[in-house]
Amino acid sequence: MLNIKVFGIVQGVGFRPFVKRIADDNKILGNVSNRGSYVEICAQGSDFDLNNFINALKTQNPPRSTILKIDFNTLTDKNFSDFQIIESIREAGDIFVSPDISICEKCAEELFDKKNRRYLHPFINCTACGPRLTILKNMPYDRERTSMGDFPMCDACAEEYFDKNSRRFDAQPICCNDCGPEIYLIGKNLRGHDAIKFARKILANGGILAIKGIGGFHLACDARNFNAVQRLRNSKTRPTKPFAVMFKNISAIKRECFLSDAEKSFLDSPQKPIVLLQKKNCSIAENVAPDINKLGVFLPYTPIHMLIFDFPDEISNFPDALIMTSGNPSGVPITIDDDDAIKNFGFCDAILSNNRQILLRADDSVMDFAENRPSMIRRSRGYAPLPIFYDSDKKIQVLAIGGELKNTFCLAKNNLFYASPYIGDVGDLRTVEVLEKSINRMKNLLEIAPEVIACDLHPRYQTTALTEKISAEFSLPLIKIQHHYAHILSCMAENNHHGEIIGVAFDGTGFGDDKTVWGGEFFICDEENYRRAAHIKKFIQAGGDKSAREGWRIAFSFVNLDIARELKLADEKNLRGQKFLLDNKMNCVESTSVGRIFDAAAAILGICRVSSYEGEAAMKLQAAAERSNKNFRAEFKNTEEILLEIVNRRLAGENANDLARLFHERLAEMTSETVFALSEREKIKIAALSGGVFQNSLLSSLVIKNLRRHGLNVLRHELIPANDGGICIGQAIHAAAIR
Ligand code: ZN
Ligand code: ZN
Ligand code: FE
Repeated sequence: MLNIKVFGIVQGVGFRPFVKRIADDNKILGNVSNRGSYVEICAQGSDFDLNNFINALKTQNPPRSTILKIDFNTLTDKNFSDFQIIESIREAGDIFVSPDISICEKCAEELFDKKNRRYLHPFINCTACGPRLTILKNMPYDRERTSMGDFPMCDACAEEYFDKNSRRFDAQPICCNDCGPEIYLIGKNLRGHDAIKFARKILANGGILAIKGIGGFHLACDARNFNAVQRLRNSKTRPTKPFAVMFKNISAIKRECFLSDAEKSFLDSPQKPIVLLQKKNCSIAENVAPDINKLGVFLPYTPIHMLIFDFPDEISNFPDALIMTSGNPSGVPITIDDDDAIKNFGFCDAILSNNRQILLRADDSVMDFAENRPSMIRRSRGYAPLPIFYDSDKKIQVLAIGGELKNTFCLAKNNLFYASPYIGDVGDLRTVEVLEKSINRMKNLLEIAPEVIACDLHPRYQTTALTEKISAEFSLPLIKIQHHYAHILSCMAENNHHGEIIGVAFDGTGFGDDKTVWGGEFFICDEENYRRAAHIKKFIQAGGDKSAREGWRIAFSFVNLDIARELKLADEKNLRGQKFLLDNKMNCVESTSVGRIFDAAAAILGICRVSSYEGEAAMKLQAAAERSNKNFRAEFKNTEEILLEIVNRRLAGENANDLARLFHERLAEMTSETVFALSEREKIKIAALSGGVFQNSLLSSLVIKNLRRHGLNVLRHELIPANDGGICIGQAIHAAAIR
C-alpha cells in the first residue's frame, strides 16, 4: 500500500474528486483527504493497478490544479473495502490557497441553456471554476469556511455536491436559483432578473452603473459613449488616466485591437487579466485612453458579467464593450461592501450588488507584453496568492510590507513567497487600515507567524510607520531595505537566481542610502549585499512633490530661461518661480531618477508637461516613439547629454515622435554600455532589469537586445511586476537571506 502526498494547487480545483475517479477506474482502494497543505492519498491495489493510478495522477490532473511535488511512502496494507473522500483534516504546513478562477466554458453554456436548472443563475460555478481567495475565511477550503457558508445547499445542489460523477462534486461554492446568493439593486425594490434587466437598461442608455464582482465593485458604462465616459471621469476625478474595457468576446476585441496568439492565451486564460493591446481602427470613445496607442481590454469572467452583456430581454443593441474600472474613491482601495458603495457611488445611476460577502479584495490583474512575453503591471485577481519558489537553506517566516505606491505585501515560509493581491497607494489612512487587515487575514489563511518583518528604507512612508508598529507589537526584528535593491531582488526571486549579478534599477523615486533620491542605479549585488557600482548623472530635482508630476520642472534643470521659454516649458510666472527655486537652491534635492528623466524628455518635446497620473509622461513618450520609424546611429551619451541633444534637435525643428524614438535609443545605449563596462570589470555575465521604468516595453526590448547581443544573460520580469507592486518579494528574499 502506498501513502502519497501531493503538493501544489490541489485545493478548490476538484482534486479529491479527480483522485476518487482515477482510483475507481484503476480498482484502487483507500482514501483521499485534504491536509491543508497537501492532499494525502492512501492507495491499495496490485502493482500494475497502482502504476496506472500514479500515471493518471501525474498526467490527467484537473486543468486548474498545479502539482509541484509528489512524495511516496510504502505502508503495510489495511483492510479497505472501497475508496473514500475523507472530510477535511486540519494540519499545518505549506498552504496553497487557490486564486479566484473565471467562469468555465461548461458553466457559461449552462448559464444560457433554457433547459438547465441554473439557467441565468448569476452565481453558477463548478468544481473547476468560481471564486476562491476572495470568499475564503480559513483553510482548508470547505464551504463552511467561505462566505458561501451563509447559503445552505438545497437538496438538488447537495445531490450534485455528493455525486462523484457530477461536474459539481465537492464544489464548495455550489449553488442555484433556489439556494444561492441574490443579486439586487441598492435602494430600488428590484431583485434577481429584474435587477439585471434594469442595470442593462441603464448601460444601454449611457448611464453609469456600479457592479459588485468577485474582488470588489466595478464602475461601468458604454465604452463607445463619449459623454458617459466623460461623466464617469468627472465623477471619479480622473481626468485622463486610461480606463480598462471589458469586451463581450474575443471577436469584439479583434475588431478594435491587434491580438497575438500569446496575448490571446493570457486574455482567455482562467485568470482573465486585463491585457494592454495595440489599438487598431478603434471605435472606442477617444477619452477612454487618450493619447495612448494601447487599450487595456479583458473578457467577462463571472456569470454576472455575462448576464450583463447577454441577458435575453428586449434590449437589442446592447454595447459589446463596457468600461469596467475599479470602484474606488481616488487613493482608497476598491470598495467591497454595500455601506461603502452607498457612500462612494452616489453619482452612479444604480448600484447592482449581491449578498455574497467579499472577504479579501482583489483588483483585476493588468498585463502588458514585451518581446512576445508577458510583463505584469498589476498582479492581483487570478494570480495572488500563488507563491514564488526561491530555494534557500533558511526557512524563516517573513512578513515584508512592500512599498508605499501600488502596495502589495509578502508572507514567506519554507522557501515559498506569497505576494498579496493589490492593496494600492498607502498615502491615505484608510488604505493603511485595509493593509493591516489584509495582512492579518493572509497570515491566518496561510498560517504564517512572521519571525522577522521587512520594509522600505524611506523614513516617512506610512508603510514604514506601520512596520515599526507591528515590529514593536510582536517584538519582531525589523529590517529596512533600499528601494531599488528590493526591485532587483524581486527580479532575482522571480527567476530563482542566486549569487552575484549586475542589477539595473530604473525607477520613479526611492530613498537612497545616502539620503538623496535614487532611481537610475547599477548595482553589483546578491541576496545579502549590494554595492552601488554606477548611477546616471545626478541632476537637481526642484519643486518638491510637484517635481514628480510636472516634468517641465525637471526639464528646466537642464536648460536656461531663454531656452525654457523657447520650448514653452511653462508660462512666464511658473518659469520665474522655478528659476527662483533653482537659483536659491530652495526645495531642491539631488536625484538620479530615470523616471524623472522621462518626464523631462516628454516636457521638452511638448508631449506631456504635467502628468495627471503616475507614468503618464513615460507612456505618452513611448507611444510617440512607436509612431516613428526613423533609425539613428548609435552613440554613447549620458542622460544630461541625451536631453540636451533632443533640446537642440527640437529647436532645430525635428519631429517630436522621431526625437522620442531617439531618446529611447540613446537611453538604451547608455544602459547597455554601462552594463558591459561593469561586466568586464567585475567578470559577471548576468544582469537583471527592474524598476517601474522597465515597464516601458520599447526601452526594455532595446536594452535586452543589446545585452544579449553581447553575450549577457538577462533576467527580466514576467509575472511579477517590475514596478513597486513587486518589491515586497525582494524585501522578503533579503530578510530571509540575512537572518
Ligand atoms: Zn464551471
Ligand atoms: Zn441549490
Ligand atoms: Fe520603485
